[in-house]
Amino acid sequence: MEKLAVIQLGCPKNQVDGEVLAGCLADRYSIVADPAEADVIVINTCGFIAAAKEESIDAIFQMLEFKKINPGVKVVAAGCLAQRYGDELCASVPELDGVVADDDIPRAAAAIKAAAAPGKLTRQTGRRFLYSHDLPRLRARPYTAYIKIADGCDNRCAYCAIPAIKGPYRSRPLPSVLAEAEDLTRGGARELILVAQDTTRYGLDLYGELKLPALLRALARVGAPWLRLLYCYPEFFTDELIAVMKEEPAVCRYVDLPLQHASDRILAAMNRRGTAREAAALIERLRAAMPDIVLRTTFITGFPGESDEDFHILENFVQNTRFDRLGVFAYSEEDGTPAAARADQTPPALREARRDALMRRQEDIAAARQAERVGTVMTVLLEEEMADGCWQGRSAGDAPEIDGQVFVRAPGKRRPGDMIAALIETSDVYDLYGSAAEREA
Ligand code: SF4
Repeated sequence: MEKLAVIQLGCPKNQVDGEVLAGCLADRYSIVADPAEADVIVINTCGFIAAAKEESIDAIFQMLEFKKINPGVKVVAAGCLAQRYGDELCASVPELDGVVADDDIPRAAAAIKAAAAPGKLTRQTGRRFLYSHDLPRLRARPYTAYIKIADGCDNRCAYCAIPAIKGPYRSRPLPSVLAEAEDLTRGGARELILVAQDTTRYGLDLYGELKLPALLRALARVGAPWLRLLYCYPEFFTDELIAVMKEEPAVCRYVDLPLQHASDRILAAMNRRGTAREAAALIERLRAAMPDIVLRTTFITGFPGESDEDFHILENFVQNTRFDRLGVFAYSEEDGTPAAARADQTPPALREARRDALMRRQEDIAAARQAERVGTVMTVLLEEEMADGCWQGRSAGDAPEIDGQVFVRAPGKRRPGDMIAALIETSDVYDLYGSAAEREA
């Protein structure tokens, strides 16, 4: 059987697509992790912002290097960059054996199986795809899984190319999400992470009402110890959702709530709905309902027209709100977006300088928030054994790949996916350190 490797790039939503793509190819290929062993290499690219596009192009050329060692190896580009720039990729990288610009994953798999002619472009046709629980999916880590509950986006933020790549918002039917959660939990998943471009909008298109609270209540019966929410949009974060988070023990007291800015003038220019005062009020409601909640957000610096005053408003907001976790992106001009067409672009160096200044300000806040957890006992999901009896893991307050980690001394027979109570003894800016605790969290 020929061997195939999938190189995963981009966000968790793209990762889910890549896992389903690997699942759809596993009937024809033996799926390997190391591209050096592969007869076919598929790069599941990201096309979100300039930095991600560069990373994808670099990965394509790295994989094409394998043709020097094994001339018969086929290299195919799939994923968002291919969907967004299919023609350009074909024209500029003729060495590619295929460019699959199709988010319909089963059809993309069929195109890869047929990737015979260099420069062959398979393009999206017809309806927008939405994967379902009955498609095979190959995952690297059995104990944690992303569940993509919807695809596409209707928010149309002025700087964002995703609606053009992924199309309109479309929720998956609730029974399909539930069936997938049951399969994943039976398969050993301890943590289910709900993702979409806008997780909080779930159900509005399909059921005419926001259905995330109902979905969470139903998922809480499936049995996975942790349910986590990423990519929440403030406007749709209802009191009902806060109540479910408070009442359901399985729902992590953790929220990823990208706010993007805190100057109302810039929020309006970004075509973001809501004001900084409304966001602050929502955060107050969350903290009042769940004082131990862990809040993550992301901001963009250097959006066109951003003045010194706008930036100071953002700095003060970060200082006053004291987020537990914070990511900052320097604004990136994306083709075809309204923001990129504006005449008042800020200099790239200023965008980056403001990003770095905000991250420096956050460092002290993050360190202080982490220090507040010293002396507490918390549940830790073990992920990787470091040295004998020392494990790297995460708490309910840490999402994979984007947040900190918890390092615990936990001698004895343990496996990745075990959840243990740990006494936190020390901390630094992002990570916590401790040891297995006698008593439960
Ligand atoms: S919410 Fe805004 S930033 Fe997020 S995917 Fe949709 S348009 Fe893009």
